[in-house]
Formats: sequence, structure tokens, C-alpha cells
Amino acid sequence: MNPATFLVLTSGAVGLLIGSFLNVCIVRWPALQSVVSPRSRCPQCGKLIAWYDNVPVLSWLLLRARCRECRLPIPWRYPLVELATAGIWVAAAWAYGYDVETLRAALFGTVLLGIAVTDAREYIIPDEFSIGGTALGLLLAFAAGWTGHPASMHALPWPQALLGAAVGYALLWLVAFFGSKILGQDAMGGGDIKMMAMIGAFVGWQGVLLTLFLGAALGTVIFLPFKLAGRDKLVPFGIFLAIGAAACWIAGPALIDWYRHLAFR
Ligand SMILES: [Zn+2]
Repeated sequence: MNPATFLVLTSGAVGLLIGSFLNVCIVRWPALQSVVSPRSRCPQCGKLIAWYDNVPVLSWLLLRARCRECRLPIPWRYPLVELATAGIWVAAAWAYGYDVETLRAALFGTVLLGIAVTDAREYIIPDEFSIGGTALGLLLAFAAGWTGHPASMHALPWPQALLGAAVGYALLWLVAFFGSKILGQDAMGGGDIKMMAMIGAFVGWQGVLLTLFLGAALGTVIFLPFKLAGRDKLVPFGIFLAIGAAACWIAGPALIDWYRHLAFR
């Protein structure tokens, strides 16, 4: 098998396993529970889930989305998160090959997915994702400097990663501070602020600006109708920041270039 194909297939398998673990984090971190122990049980009948009923995607299909014991439905979120994570890992391996950049892209995508799903379910962005993700981003920027592949297209030198995290945190803190002064209510949670530090550690300060712009635009388009209809819905802003950050990773350099040409013609 050629090495590139091998890497893509392996990354897909690793992505499925990590997606399976991500499902556990999504449920347990907001509830302040350990993701290591106890082992997973059916929330209804309490039966321990055997390893063969815990194989990513496959078990869910074979069990026809129900607990083997009590037939309680297993949400489709489980296989979907596993497939999405695998997709992220395959795409990263495909794009960057044998490079730290593959790991950076895959882990960034995984953390963003975890935040988006958790924020949608519970309106919470656990510190494990945001602060843990910031540490991961800084570490990987450091590691990339040691591989002798500084020529990577996206690679972010570690001082840039550090600056990005600081700018992300400071900028969102200011937005939250003045937002609450102006609106008289909390415009943004502390989770969003820490999340933006994480994003900055992966995409740098320019990426922070672009992410914030894309996230705010998307959030406004989707939630303005609710606001205008007088229905005050809680806005899980983390979802829009996650989508903005993913778009920024994929199209950021091109978008920033395009904007420069536009602005400084
Ligand atoms: Zn059960």
C-alpha cells in the first residue's frame, strides 16, 4: 500500500476511536464527571456496555440504535460524532500527509466539533476543551518547530500561537465587557472567551479576527429572526465560533489575501 493511502486509512480508524471518546467527553465534561471511569452504562437499565456493543458506528447500526437489554433508543448523535471526527482526521491526513500539520488540523477540528455539540446541548463550553485545547495548540506549534518542516503552508510559529491565544482572550473579554455594559445583560459567557484563546492558539491573531467576524455574521443571520419575533432564545455562540474557526482554517489565508487586495489596492 502506498504510504499516503496508509496514512489516510489509519487516520480514519484513529478518528473513529477518538470520535467515540469525544462522545463520552461531550456528555460527561459538562456534568463534571470523569471521562475515564466508570465505564459506560445504559442510562435506563444500567447495564454495562460490552466492548462489542461499543464499536464506533458499527454497533449502533447492528443494535439498530437501541440498547441490547432494554431497547432504549441510542441517539443518532453518537454515530454522527464518530463519523464526523473520522471525516476530520481523514481530511487532515489527505491535506497535509506526514506532518505535524495533520495532527494540528485533526485535533483542532476535533476540539471545535466537541465544543459545538456540547454548546448546542447544554450551553456550556467545558474548560477541558477550551483551556486544554489552548495548551494543545501551543504545544503543537512548538512541536512543528522541531520537525524540520517549517515550510508547512499553514504552520504557525509558536510566538504567533501565543500571541493568537492572548489576542483571542483579550478581544472576547472586551466584547463581553462592553457588550454587557451596553445591553445590560451578559452578551457572552466566560466559555466563549476561553474558547477564543484556544482558536487563537491554532490560527493566530488574524485568524481570531476572521473567526470572530464569520461567527458573528453567521450567528446574526440565524438568530436575528428569533430576536425580531420577540422570542428571546439563548444563543449558543460557541457553535458559530466553531464554524467560523473551521472556515478560517480552510479558507483563511485566501480570504485574508483577498481582503488585503481589496483594502490596499
Ligand atoms: Zn438499557
